[in-house]
Amino acid sequence: MHKVVIIGSGCAGNTAAIYTARAGLEPIVVKGHEVGGQLSLTTEVENFPGFPEGINGPDLIENMKKQAERFGALYRDGELVEADLSKRPFRLNLAGEWVETRTLIVASGAKARWLDLPSEQKLIGHGVSSCATCDGFFYREKKIMVVGGGDSAMEEANFLTRFGREVALVHRRDAFRASKIMLERARNNPKIKFFNNTVVEDVYDASQHLVTGVKLRNVLTNDIWERNVDGFFVAIGHIPNTAPFAGQIDLDPDGYIVSHGGARTSVTGVFHAGDVQDRTYRQAITASGAGCMAAIEAERFLEAEGH
Ligand code: NAP
Repeated sequence: MHKVVIIGSGCAGNTAAIYTARAGLEPIVVKGHEVGGQLSLTTEVENFPGFPEGINGPDLIENMKKQAERFGALYRDGELVEADLSKRPFRLNLAGEWVETRTLIVASGAKARWLDLPSEQKLIGHGVSSCATCDGFFYREKKIMVVGGGDSAMEEANFLTRFGREVALVHRRDAFRASKIMLERARNNPKIKFFNNTVVEDVYDASQHLVTGVKLRNVLTNDIWERNVDGFFVAIGHIPNTAPFAGQIDLDPDGYIVSHGGARTSVTGVFHAGDVQDRTYRQAITASGAGCMAAIEAERFLEAEGH
């Protein structure tokens, strides 16, 4: 019987592990499918406080893990396959083995949705990004492209005009999901150029390990052309990793955990941390902060229950 099981090994899960381990709760951290979370897909992180020169994303994650292990956190490979949260202790199927736990911290994150072009996948962290806040700074006076037609794409395109010389916004239709106000703001921004009814067919140049341009196709005319870009931002939505909790924890229509205040979910003893609940900020530091909150709540909950 475990006191705390943490699902996810990104910033939220690792921070929850540091705090619960230091509280002597010997947490088990289930690393999950994307070990280390989204930071493990980035290169330089310049906005995590405490690193004036910046730090490599995977190094930051590894440091957090070492810090948690130093206090007794146990990391295990594999993912959560199935969960029974109908009664306490909770039962979790971890890659075929059932374990029991008094509390559960869900820090399983949200995956960025990608176009899934092979070239795009190879260049993630080398000019291809899903986070303008994280990576926009690297494209001062450069040519930037954003893909998507929702609020995220509009927000990212607007934000990126602070850095880039120009921002090309590519959307596969001519109708937009984005709210009117966000769309108008982008349309009125002189640095943003819209390419509607357009899809990205390829991202260059994986052989050089950096983005140099893209191949585009107009879906109405089938015209194909190339455009030079230095930074390629994909803003076509996120998918929260909550499948094993469907029907057990309150989720919103897009699958994000609905917070019941602090780090509490709809199930007593189950806490949320990071992007699995947060569709607004999605930053390493906010995920870490949320991991800390979930850990403190789990600790207080166990203490109140006499464990
Ligand atoms: P979204 O609203 O689901 O929009 C996703 C966009 O990506 C759509 O335009 C979609 O095109 C496009 N897309 C999806 N898959 C694609 C593919 N394979 N290839 C090309 N394009 C693809 O997602 P979101 O923009 O991330 O927003 C999610 C939620 O957060 C929304 O409720 C939004 O309002 C909210 N949000 C709010 C703010 C804000 O208010 N400040 C900021 C960001 C997000 P189609 O339209 O053709 O399907």
